[in-house]
Amino acid sequence: MRQVDHFLAGGVTAAPVRKHQIWNPSTGEIQAEVGLGDAALLEKAVATAKEVQPAWAATNPQKRARVMFRYKELIEANMQDLAELLSSEHGKVVDDAKGDVQRGLEVIEFACGIPQVLKGDYTQGAGPGIDVYSMRQPLGIGAGITPFNFPAMIPMWMFGMAIATGNAFILKPSERDPSVPVRLAELFVEAGAPEGLLQVVHGDKEMVDAILDHEDIAAVSFVGSSDIAHYVYKRGVAAGKRIQAMGGAKNHGIVMPDADLDQVVNDLSGAAFGSAGERCMALPVVVPVGEDTAERLREKLIPAIHALNVGVSNDPDAHYGPVVTPEHKARVEGWIDTAEKEGGEIVVDGRGFALQGHEKGFFVGPTLIDHVKPHMESYKEEIFGPVLQIVRAADFEEAVRLPSDHQYGNGVAIFTRNGHAAREFANRVNVGMVGINVPIPVPVAYHSFGGWKRSGFGDTDQYGMEGLKFWTKAKKVTQRWPDGSADDGNSFIIPTMG
Ligand code: NAD
Repeated sequence: MRQVDHFLAGGVTAAPVRKHQIWNPSTGEIQAEVGLGDAALLEKAVATAKEVQPAWAATNPQKRARVMFRYKELIEANMQDLAELLSSEHGKVVDDAKGDVQRGLEVIEFACGIPQVLKGDYTQGAGPGIDVYSMRQPLGIGAGITPFNFPAMIPMWMFGMAIATGNAFILKPSERDPSVPVRLAELFVEAGAPEGLLQVVHGDKEMVDAILDHEDIAAVSFVGSSDIAHYVYKRGVAAGKRIQAMGGAKNHGIVMPDADLDQVVNDLSGAAFGSAGERCMALPVVVPVGEDTAERLREKLIPAIHALNVGVSNDPDAHYGPVVTPEHKARVEGWIDTAEKEGGEIVVDGRGFALQGHEKGFFVGPTLIDHVKPHMESYKEEIFGPVLQIVRAADFEEAVRLPSDHQYGNGVAIFTRNGHAAREFANRVNVGMVGINVPIPVPVAYHSFGGWKRSGFGDTDQYGMEGLKFWTKAKKVTQRWPDGSADDGNSFIIPTMG
């Protein structure tokens, strides 16, 4: 059986005590095993990181950027292999897996410009003979704990910024699809990065706790489900670390009566069912405004959903593949049961779906549930599967209120031809990322990504200038070079600039 190992400088000496099995979700077979690390293994990684980080921080930013440029080229050259490996462990179709790699790569491209964005501010003559300047310095060692659903993009969001700004980085990827993160770390060394600058340790809660408690790790970026994000945030902050912890989501798509419904149905098909709904920026809730809009939308959605092609992840004609594990398939189907018991109308039922020839795969058919109400548990919680819920809103005010009142506040979209309604919505809605006729509004790499409420704990977003801020600390220098001609004497008042 294929073994997935940690990626530490100098290799790994001890055999793992505990192992986790990695599925091929399309076939329902176990394809590999990953050893789960412990605090002793982390200690080894931290010792290496401490050794290599000072020299990296002292390497001028242009040279650091050159490594990023070479890394970008290597990832592009390896795109197909990375996407196929990712697809085989995650279950998303290969083209979508390429998108996963590509969106991470865009952060590496941003990191190629690190000399420009890392420049500080300078004020000459802030006072008599006094200049003030600021600089951003790396924190030392950073760590990232990532979810299964974007095994390439999310690690690159984190280490791209952390390393370009001069830190060493330890990545703890999801144990469910850990192979691509290891491959990304190997390619980084091939690109010329010093060994030990980017290390990968595998594990579960035991490793996460060891990371959160380790006194030499200055900052931790986490992405995953909300309860664990909140736990990581609290424990990390208590240990004196800088923490950002992104959580779950339940994104709403508001459909105004004037929207182009054919376009909306196209957008919803991809945003609700792409990657089997296993995206934190998926659109699992659609909110048509007014009964007439709801009826017209439903009529168009039903045939579009029936036309979706569910297939194995390397089938080029499949729109989406299996979900990640058998437990997750059972969980998603359980939520459909709950929605039915709560009074939702199961319009298209994806339960019990079996793909011919791949009956053991973890497939869930596309599901549409109408007449979902805000008090229902299946509405309040994240389902994270190919399930679209319709919540009918009476008017625009209710459509603003629904996502605003929801416990999650990651993304939201509005579909309309009315600029005023869109502008008003974007201004008022209590959600972190807004799409206007854009179903999946993941900001580009030179902006930043982050949700609100239970979708994000901590003050800074991922990547872009927010990422740069998270992985560095600001130093402010006030300097005076007296020429020796003046005797200012002692002063016992707080210095002012006159
Ligand atoms: P998860 O919370 O199960 O796992 C995330 C990480 O936490 C993994 O590395 C895992 O090993 C670790 N972990 C698991 N159990 C733990 C525990 N008890 N204590 C400490 N660490 C633990 O999430 P997942 O299922 O891998 O990913 C899906 C979730 O991530 C969804 O909720 C999705 O919305 C969310 N997500 C959010 C964003 C965002 O940016 N807001 C992006 C992607 C995914």
